[in-house]
Amino acid sequence: MSKNSTPGRFGAHGGQYIPETLMNAVIELEKAYVRFKDDPGFNEELTALFNEYAGRPSRLYYAGKMTKDLGGAKIYLKREDLNHTGSHKINNVLGQALLAKKMGKTRLIAETGAGQHGVATATAAALLDMECVVFMGEEDTKRQALNVYRMRLLGATVIPVTTGTATLKDAVSEAFREWTRRIDDTHYCLGSVMGPHPFPTIVRDFQAVISREIKQQILEKEGRLPDAVMACVGGGSNSIGSFYHFIEDESVRLIGCEAAGRGTDTFETAATIATGRLGIFHGMKSYFCQDEYGQIAPVYSISAGLDYPGIGPEHAYLHDTGRAEYVPVTDEEAVCAFEYLSRTEGIIPAIESAHAVAHAMKIAPSMDPDKIIVITISGRGDKDCAAIARYRGEDISE
Ligand SMILES: *Cc1c(COP(=O)(O)O)cnc(C)c1O
Repeated sequence: MSKNSTPGRFGAHGGQYIPETLMNAVIELEKAYVRFKDDPGFNEELTALFNEYAGRPSRLYYAGKMTKDLGGAKIYLKREDLNHTGSHKINNVLGQALLAKKMGKTRLIAETGAGQHGVATATAAALLDMECVVFMGEEDTKRQALNVYRMRLLGATVIPVTTGTATLKDAVSEAFREWTRRIDDTHYCLGSVMGPHPFPTIVRDFQAVISREIKQQILEKEGRLPDAVMACVGGGSNSIGSFYHFIEDESVRLIGCEAAGRGTDTFETAATIATGRLGIFHGMKSYFCQDEYGQIAPVYSISAGLDYPGIGPEHAYLHDTGRAEYVPVTDEEAVCAFEYLSRTEGIIPAIESAHAVAHAMKIAPSMDPDKIIVITISGRGDKDCAAIARYRGEDISE
């Protein structure tokens, strides 16, 4: 079965479950994307932004000390933390902002949880001379005051959202509402591989630069494909970007690491594949964390970037077919990996990325030394230092 037999469907997942008032916007976006995605001029401009502005290609670093210490598979780190603004998010944002500009839009709106996607969007808007409005749950604006300041510094307006639990899912809903109100000059720059078609496909394609580079870099360094590629999964954009060009290579294990929070046997978790059920939310059919009534459940993780109650539809499909594996990783395991990578390699990973590092620490020791693992380090961990110190009982002010 081809995964693209119907555009925007990944097996049973994906689709466009949206109010009629939003249909015109997604149809216009899909048309523009089809028109520009293979356009040489568009791709040249985007590649120039990736390379000159964002600092691509990001390095594929052989983590020799970690490899030696764990005593098993050879470990490589895909260094998305070295990108401008400190994570993989800039890949998607530059792509969408450039596309919006080609469509004649002058205004970008975005949702943000921890503030990372909001900062990336505000950055692209500053660079491309576009107006920028970011919706952020009021709770999150308090927890992430520094990122609110960054967005304002970059020229964006930050609107606190007070509906629902005043967190990420409410910010997404509010951004969709705003887009409905103002389609003419506005593009909704969605932050992960979720939402209605064509977003999961567009965001994946812009993030697929990660696996395109990994493949080329590992062939140069090792002359063969890796045995496993692993990445953390929130909505799923850095992981699908890391997997995409390996999906057809059956010998490569694809492993997504979800945030288990305090454990998948507790209510304080964000592990969607481990604990969620099929549902429809934010315009797509996929797996979601739900309560007994089918309402979206509150989710929890120490990592603000991973506590979304759903997963992108392509991941849901890769899970159904067994092509990718999804494993839960707890707060405690992620914090240990955060500390371990800092000490061992001198690289402080984002606490999100540390979930993938933690899983590699579990499986690498029992793998043969001729096996190769690639871990995507989706972002840098400076932003997390205060929270991790607090987790360890130390209070440092930012
Ligand atoms: C936002 C974020 C994530 C989670 O988003 P995905 O769409 O699952 O990639 C992971 N890591 C970092 C550093 C982030 O900022």
